[in-house]
Amino acid sequence: MIDTFSNFIGGCWKASLSGAAFDNENPAHRRRVLGRFQSSAADDLDDAVDAAASAFAAWRRRPVAERQQLVGEFLRVLDLSRHELARIVTLENGKTIRESYAEVDSALVEGSHHLHQISAFYSHTGPAASGGMTTWVQYEPVGVVGVISPWNFPMNVMCRKTLPALLTGNTVVFKPASFTPWSGVFMAGLFERAGFPRGVFNCLTGAGSSLGDGLVRHPGIRAVSFTGSTAVGRTIQVKAAEHLTRTQLELGGKNALIVMDDADQHAALDAAVTAGFSNAGQWCTSTSRLLLHRPIAASFVAALVDRCERMVVGDGLDEATDMGPVAGPKQFDAVRAAIRLAQAEGARLLAGAVPLPDSPEGYFIRPTVLGDVTPRMTAFHEEIFGPVLSICEFGSLNEAIELANDSMYGLSSAIFTTSLSTARSYIDNIDAGLAHVNVHTGYKEPWMPFGGVKQSGCGVPENSETGLEFFVDRKAVYLRG
Ligand code: NAD
Repeated sequence: MIDTFSNFIGGCWKASLSGAAFDNENPAHRRRVLGRFQSSAADDLDDAVDAAASAFAAWRRRPVAERQQLVGEFLRVLDLSRHELARIVTLENGKTIRESYAEVDSALVEGSHHLHQISAFYSHTGPAASGGMTTWVQYEPVGVVGVISPWNFPMNVMCRKTLPALLTGNTVVFKPASFTPWSGVFMAGLFERAGFPRGVFNCLTGAGSSLGDGLVRHPGIRAVSFTGSTAVGRTIQVKAAEHLTRTQLELGGKNALIVMDDADQHAALDAAVTAGFSNAGQWCTSTSRLLLHRPIAASFVAALVDRCERMVVGDGLDEATDMGPVAGPKQFDAVRAAIRLAQAEGARLLAGAVPLPDSPEGYFIRPTVLGDVTPRMTAFHEEIFGPVLSICEFGSLNEAIELANDSMYGLSSAIFTTSLSTARSYIDNIDAGLAHVNVHTGYKEPWMPFGGVKQSGCGVPENSETGLEFFVDRKAVYLRG
């Protein structure tokens, strides 16, 4: 018996109007169906946008303190649901249960930051007197906003977008990724439990190519906050232009970790393993290119391969598991194809399965290390989005920075060094939204902007103050009298 999950529209749980549905599979156990979810279409979307538009009129006028109270209650029920939600994330995404707890905890920390930051945010706009006039900037909510999230952090990314949108007085239509609809629908239940008015938060499941596309094109949607691939982000930017819909696009990366010969090699190795293989490498800020200073390259690679070979790959619910499966058949095929292509182009497979086996139980790929990767190779440039580290060697800091910047992406980056001047030079010259020194590429704090440059992002970053700014219009008020 398969459980069927509904959309959450206007405060009601509804089946799609067509009755169409799709099944969600556990990536650790192929063909084990976790649930049946609605395949929503244009008429369901119209219903959700209408519900959100009707709710907007009253929601935007609610005092900020009341919105804060409701978001505070949401965070309380999220915390109470921590165990249940972490289990759902592991079941449908495949990441280890520890990683799922870390994701929920990250959403709680970020949510609490936004909850408190909102008071300071509104206090910036205060009145100023000028020539008999009083002036101020009034922040107005944008209206109904669309939130589209990826499957790799199915609940944290949606919270990072949705809570600032709600705190600033917008109403939300949310579309989870098709691989992780369960976490999305579960989050909708938490908004209901927290007592949000009907229509303020709506959630529909369905395919990106139809439902996601419709959401971006919908004339009733005033802003879209999207996290996903650069390829889809580009198409969203084009479609959003039709109604001049505001976009916040958090996209792909090909993040480099540079290890200098003066670095603490153990710390650098931990950083490579953590940022390379957490979430099975399916992390926008994961390390995918490891740039090694020639004098330490051989010893570093030997230690890395040893670590990879000792990692336990398996079902994420098992406490002994270090790395879970990749999220589904599409990733499984794409990652294996990328490894084969790298080998065909001349890269050496230093760790990982040889030949790549068809895992009968789940979509498991062992931590993989590719040596002798050069900028001519696809593995150097394309985001593999799996547990694969591509290694290049360099002779000088300038060469390392040139290699790191040789990418259309510019999301995250890191250097390990004990030299202050090396660190300074890297910070000034790296083309990336996040620059870490002796900290792995995936590290972030909620008060810091989270977003990429070049083709890793467009629009203001999430988190920090800009995470709230994205969701407001600024009205310049001049008052005489
Ligand atoms: P994806 O682009 O395939 O899908 C992301 C979301 O967009 C999903 O909900 C999907 O259903 C939807 N979608 C797909 N086609 C669409 C369309 N035509 N119109 C509107 N929506 C559509 O990405 P993914 O495979 O879910 O996630 C992996 C990607 O996300 C990687 O490239 C990763 O780097 C990126 N990512 C970036 C960040 C960041 O903050 N920069 C964070 C996490 C993931």
